[in-house]
Order: sequence, then structure tokens, then C-alpha cells
Amino acid sequence: MRILMVEDEMHMAEAIEQVLKKNHYSVDLAFNGEDGLDCGLAGIYDIIILDIMLPKMNGITVLKELRKNGIATPVILLTAKGDTSDKVIGLDSGADDYLPKPFPTEELLARLRALGRRKSEIIYDNVLKYGDIELNPHTLYICCRKNSFKLTLKECQLLELLILRQNGIISKDSIIEKIWGYDTNAEDNHVEVYISFLRKKLASLKSCVSIQTIRGVGYCLKS
Ligand code: CA
Repeated sequence: MRILMVEDEMHMAEAIEQVLKKNHYSVDLAFNGEDGLDCGLAGIYDIIILDIMLPKMNGITVLKELRKNGIATPVILLTAKGDTSDKVIGLDSGADDYLPKPFPTEELLARLRALGRRKSEIIYDNVLKYGDIELNPHTLYICCRKNSFKLTLKECQLLELLILRQNGIISKDSIIEKIWGYDTNAEDNHVEVYISFLRKKLASLKSCVSIQTIRGVGYCLKS
């Protein structure tokens, strides 16, 4: 299991790193909010341990940015002891758990085990199926019979939208709004480019699923 720890108190971060490594976790450290966000956006971690009080960007902002960018990695927030407002704001911003500082490392290890279990349940539950393909929006993997590979985040989001419509049509505007957001410079041709990426990938999987263009209206899946 791969963990990102974002914590500016270097001695504490390194001490925890040692404990985690002894417990067979692989750990990367970031010492400020900006670096933490950069690492987190890579989407390669199983769990992120995130301090709230951080230089450059605070933990709550880092968390909000991660969620806004579609990163669903479980996050444990490290809060100041007894500060309930931190806890509430953190959970509202998309944290999965919180831990008041200082804490015994045993407590952190227990929380990590619990989140790890929950993560595998979530992944198992959320596989989407259409025709002969299965899509896991958490791991970004698409499977077709025995073949599988990883999509990019945007390709995965686009395919997810199409699958959720089943055989219904989704318009380009609606795709732009859902994937790129309202205030965006994304244009129609962004959608076309990603649709063509997805078509190539479906073809390379030899899937019977195809993406139909309904001229002037949008796109839909066909099996
Ligand atoms: Ca701190």
C-alpha cells in the first residue's frame, strides 16, 4: 500500500515514515501544501495523510483541490487537538477520517488498516458494466474479457458518463460541464478528441461496445 504523508514538522514526519515502513507501507513525504497537492494529483496513492496547518497551502485547500480534480484517494486529516471546527470543515471538504495531534502511532496504523479495507470494498462495489466491458472509476481500469488497461482520468470520466446513460444520448455541452466544469475554456473539440481516444481503446480491446455520434445532438453507447 502506497501512502503520501503531507506534514511540515519534519522530525515528526520522518518518525512516522519509519514506523509506516516497518509496517510494510511504502511512503512518500511532502513538507508543504503545494508539493503535497502536486504529489496527490498523480493519483498513485492508496491513502493520503494530510496535516491541516501547512506552509504554502493549507491542508483543507489541498483536500478541496484534490476532490475538485477527481482524486478520490482516502484522506486522513491531522487536526489540532480539540479543534472541532477543523474536524467539521475537514469532513465537509471530503476527508475520510481525522486524527487529532498528537496521536499514538498505533492509532494511526489502526486508521490506515480500516481505510485500506474500506477502499477495497469501494473499488469492488463500483465497477460499472456495459456490454462486454467493465470500468472501475477508482482504479481507472477498463476490462474486456481477459484484456485490461488503465485509462487516463478524463477518458475514464467520459466513459463513466456514457455508461451511466446506458443507451441514452449525452450532449457535448453536458459532457464539458460535467468533466471540465463551468468556468472552463474547454471547447467542443476537446470532447471529440477524448471520444476518439476512447474509440481507439475500445477497438484495441476488441470490445463489441462502440460510441455512436448522433449528429448535432451528442453521443451514446451501443453494444
Ligand atoms: Ca503543521
